[in-house]
Amino acid sequence: MCPKSSGLGLIQVYTGNGKGKTTAALGLALRAWGRGLRVVVIQFMKLGDEYGEISALRKMSGIDLFQYGRDQLITKGKHSQEDVSLAKKGLRKAKASLTGKKYDVVILDEVNVVAYFGIVTPEEVMAVVRSRAPEVEVIMTGRNAPKQFIDEADLVTEMRMIKHPYDAGVIARAGIEY
Ligand code: ATP
Ligand code: MG
Repeated sequence: MCPKSSGLGLIQVYTGNGKGKTTAALGLALRAWGRGLRVVVIQFMKLGDEYGEISALRKMSGIDLFQYGRDQLITKGKHSQEDVSLAKKGLRKAKASLTGKKYDVVILDEVNVVAYFGIVTPEEVMAVVRSRAPEVEVIMTGRNAPKQFIDEADLVTEMRMIKHPYDAGVIARAGIEY
């Protein structure tokens, strides 16, 4: 047990092009939940139950989940007005979750990507993150985290791809990649 453990309230960023950002955030969610902390996962860009982790969260009780995406691939610079309004709705939910005293840990999955794609600005996201109650821990995931996120975070981990079976033709496997 760490003798120096102190309160929550930090900003964590998981970024990079290697696998493991979302699963690391959900691993943290599991750990926090195991300690009786109140956890919410707010997921940008994704929709639906076609992910093992989403079915898992829906089956278990204790970790809340909200999705603000569409069931469609978006590429940089090619988002729609609907993508903007969904992301903004997600940010409003994030703000309510960060300030409402209902959660101790707030996971903003793929929020780095919505900012990188220009669907919302990095500043809009950071304004929400900064507004958090001081004891709420925030985890932001996704490739290409804007510099501003990295500068303001307390913990930044970059998942760096060394190998991925996708490059050898192995397509996404249920239960492993999704
Ligand atoms: P995971 O959800 O497995 O933790 P991730 O959050 O780090 O991965 P994303 O950038 O969100 O990865 O990628 C979305 C999907 O692409 C996931 O199914 C993930 O497993 C897969 N993936 C991650 N990295 C790579 C890669 N380098 N090449 C191909 N597919 C990848
Ligand atoms: Mg991810």
